[in-house]
Amino acid sequence: MKITDVKVAVIRGNFCWPLVRVDTDEGISGLGEARDYSPAHHYVIPLKEQVLRLKKVIVGEDPTNIERLFAKIRAYGAEGRFGGAVSGIEIALWDILGKSLGVPVYKVLGGKFRSKIRIYCDCHAGRAISDAATDYSFEGAEEFYTPEAYAEAARKIKVMGFTILKFDLHPQYAGKDALIGNVPTSKAIKYEVSVVEALREAVGDDFPLALDSYQGGTVEGAIRFGKAVDPYRLLWIEDVIDWKDTRGFKTVTRAIKTPTLTGEDIYTAASFKPLIEERAVDIVAPDIATNGGIMENKKVAWLANLYGLSVAPHCAGSPVSTMANVHAAAAMPENLIAIEFHAVAVPWWDDLVEGVDKPIIKGGYISVPERPGLGVEINENIARKHLMDGETCFE
Ligand SMILES: [Mg+2]
Repeated sequence: MKITDVKVAVIRGNFCWPLVRVDTDEGISGLGEARDYSPAHHYVIPLKEQVLRLKKVIVGEDPTNIERLFAKIRAYGAEGRFGGAVSGIEIALWDILGKSLGVPVYKVLGGKFRSKIRIYCDCHAGRAISDAATDYSFEGAEEFYTPEAYAEAARKIKVMGFTILKFDLHPQYAGKDALIGNVPTSKAIKYEVSVVEALREAVGDDFPLALDSYQGGTVEGAIRFGKAVDPYRLLWIEDVIDWKDTRGFKTVTRAIKTPTLTGEDIYTAASFKPLIEERAVDIVAPDIATNGGIMENKKVAWLANLYGLSVAPHCAGSPVSTMANVHAAAAMPENLIAIEFHAVAVPWWDDLVEGVDKPIIKGGYISVPERPGLGVEINENIARKHLMDGETCFE
């Protein structure tokens, strides 16, 4: 079998989802997905072009030699959204391999530790994100950032069956002068504590609750914030400082009781090594559409497990990258917490794919599919309705 073509369809969901299709001379195609991005963002090289420029590197190759092909394309990726193209292709290669053997992807990863995967819901704030270009900003939307709005959102989303909820909570949401330079003021910390208190009251004492909460950049500010929210027994606080600051994270993690988390912008398992070896955070969060794909996510979980750390994969994509996550997570060791779901405000999220039981998320879990490959195909009618302006559906 040989790779003959690579195609892309950029879908506009709450974020943009660059879907990848790798075609072969045996009529088998594989699906993948590059990292989500906001339609308001601009990149020097758009995600679609990043994927398509890899075409000449992989056309003519046997798609089932995945690790060798990954080694060949790895140098074309980098941290953050620049890891998306390599990841999207890697995911598609596993889909092809599974389909060609007639087995689900988790089987070729060594089999499954579990048959259903816990999914946690990223709720954003008092309003979930339905379009990152219009409702991701705090300015002019202050009503969605009050403690009452957060609590109301938590109550509404909890009844959908999720067993973990995560919210974004940043000092800036406290309003004007919440940060002096990069130092969170006591006004900001007080506001953040009031939100956490309202959330805790809304979901109940023992319900797992996490925060994504960049504290401006100082280690001191992150520690002050961590200590202030320690009494609320959060499941984790995420990216409280810059993710590149391994030593800073280690200092924060040692100073507070609440578990810490980072990793969504890290590219390749090798780059997780210092963070994990230093136990600089308690939980790592590789993004399968950034980190280099399915095998890299499994490697991160394996390495983290050796050091007694947990893994909670980041995902803000379509059902394609979510299913890639589900197969990788099925084959992860005991340290898996849950996979992220970020599209609670996208009513057609399920409709974008076929071949899998609906609703895809039931009672806060996704069942590991047993169909060959990833187990999902694109519904092109739905995809065409939600293409980014000027984009085509794998043409
Ligand atoms: Mg995050």
